[in-house]
Amino acid sequence: MARPPSPSLVLSFPDARRLVEQHASLLSPGANETVALLNAAGRILAEPVAADRDIPPFPRSTRDGYAVRAADLAQLPVTLTVIGEIKAGPPPAGKVPSPLSRGEAFSIMTGAPVPSGADAVVMIEYTSLEGNCATVTKSVRPGENIVAQGAEAKRGSLLLNPGTHLNEAGIALAASVGKAELQVFVRPRIAVLTTGDEIVEVAREVGPTQIRNSNKYSLAVQIQHAGAEPVLLPIAPDEPRRLRQLMEEGFESDLLLMTGGVSMGRYDLVEQVLAELHAEFFFTGATIQPGRPIVAGRVPYRSGGAGVGLAHRYFFGLPGNPVSTMVTFELFARPMIEALAGMSPRPLAFLHARLKSEIRVKPGLTRFLPAILYGQFENAQVELVPWQGSGDIAARFRSNCLVVIPPDGEHIAAGGWVAVMLR
Ligand code: AMP
Ligand code: MG
Repeated sequence: MARPPSPSLVLSFPDARRLVEQHASLLSPGANETVALLNAAGRILAEPVAADRDIPPFPRSTRDGYAVRAADLAQLPVTLTVIGEIKAGPPPAGKVPSPLSRGEAFSIMTGAPVPSGADAVVMIEYTSLEGNCATVTKSVRPGENIVAQGAEAKRGSLLLNPGTHLNEAGIALAASVGKAELQVFVRPRIAVLTTGDEIVEVAREVGPTQIRNSNKYSLAVQIQHAGAEPVLLPIAPDEPRRLRQLMEEGFESDLLLMTGGVSMGRYDLVEQVLAELHAEFFFTGATIQPGRPIVAGRVPYRSGGAGVGLAHRYFFGLPGNPVSTMVTFELFARPMIEALAGMSPRPLAFLHARLKSEIRVKPGLTRFLPAILYGQFENAQVELVPWQGSGDIAARFRSNCLVVIPPDGEHIAAGGWVAVMLR
């Protein structure tokens, strides 16, 4: 029987994360597909998107007011002749505004093109109107209340890079340059293999000592959020032959995520079976809580079809405790899935907030503890959610973030700053 890897493969959180990021950077995404603009939301862009014209396409008034020559407002108050009105959109036929001459003003609306000759817009609050004369009481600087043509982007300039995750702003930007369709990367397929003799599917009758399969669902949701497609395998029993069979099925997907069976117990068979499949282990544990027994690595994989060649398939053996599963997905599986999805790498981001109540923990582990971030404006505060440990899904649901405690952070007093992961 293949031997499980040596215990020296337990890494600190930063070392484990770095290793995963290094391997993620070696991965490349799959093919492209063209989708309708709205269907590109949440997807990863596969083409560069450039401005098809200057943005804005004309000098745009940012206010309702009067388009003026700033130089006319040197001496105040000054009375200007209002020679017409400009609203957003094309002017009525035959009514293209004439260039502004000295002493003249146009009434202008937000979003309307500033006429030639004008170099500023004075706000309505600083004018009083009598007949067709506007008396202005406040000066403006040249350019004030106008966005110059092309100031947001010049025609032809790159607005969206391939590898960008398309959120609402990305979709709006593509819409603003006339892209009704976008090329995005095909979603990678991520296999989910849950293990354990005690685990049963949700719709099944559950015995008193059986546990419903919740990890399959949390992972499926997280995989979808990461821009990938979950491939859900049947539950693997704690029995090596069937486990191996299902793992091999899982390796047909782009990445295999397993849960359970990675602790030190007699029936924790995942590492042993992976070793039989000639796995190369990156680590078999990380000094974190929750999630200490996490396993990561890759197996040799012979791809079929025309370009037959020796490649790798990556795997994560996530601990079975449901909160550990969710947290270790975010810490380790997500960057690898994002890379397979074609997304440019991004560092793990933390906020900082003040602790509401003190925290005392044993040193030695980087902890990611469920917490609630609340408070208003500059008074962001964070408080740990009481929990029964890494099996407590309800506590994780009550939380809206994770407080990150470094391995040397034995005691953090109330009011102290802590790092927070929003998730
Ligand atoms: P293991 O990592 O296999 O030792 O499992 C640790 C704990 O997580 C045990 O209490 C399991 O019953 C529980 N567990 C394992 N897999 C799942 C799953 N798919 N859904 C819910 N709980 C699980
Ligand atoms: Mg188990």
